[in-house]
Amino acid sequence: MKENSCIFCKLANGEIPSATIYEDEDFRCFLDLNPASRGHALLVPKEHFANLFEMDREHLERAMVLAQRIGAHMKEKLGCDGLNLVQNNGEAAGQTVFHFHLHLIPRYQGDGVGVSWKPGSLTDEAKEELTALLSLGGTLE
Ligand code: AMP
Ligand code: ZN
Repeated sequence: MKENSCIFCKLANGEIPSATIYEDEDFRCFLDLNPASRGHALLVPKEHFANLFEMDREHLERAMVLAQRIGAHMKEKLGCDGLNLVQNNGEAAGQTVFHFHLHLIPRYQGDGVGVSWKPGSLTDEAKEELTALLSLGGTLE
């Protein structure tokens, strides 16, 4: 399904041109218009999913395989020293385009790109509370 008002539906499906570096039946990967670093690209499904939680398993699995392949290609061609995968869900998490996308951000030693946070510290109290709250029993399917 596509959404008429969604710019990433249009970009992913080629209705709006993009600087595409990879395309298959279900995904497109194109350069970010406001790159964090040289080679910053977005991997976008052609089908509309607002975020991670809406995406089906097949697309999720494929996205991670493609990230590995495209990331390896970037390392070879750009000579980057590392790669960040960033994927924002919800306004509070910095999502501005509400169509699932995975950022592939090539990293270069000392580039100063800010994909970071100020580290806190896990108190004993929080450790106990959060493990009780978040522990998942059994195996996830
Ligand atoms: P996010 O904040 O995770 O939702 O990321 C949205 C990203 O989409 C930003 O990095 C924008 O620079 C990028 N972006 C928005 N519009 C376009 C566009 N037309 N072509 C390429 N990248 C875009
Ligand atoms: Zn869309």
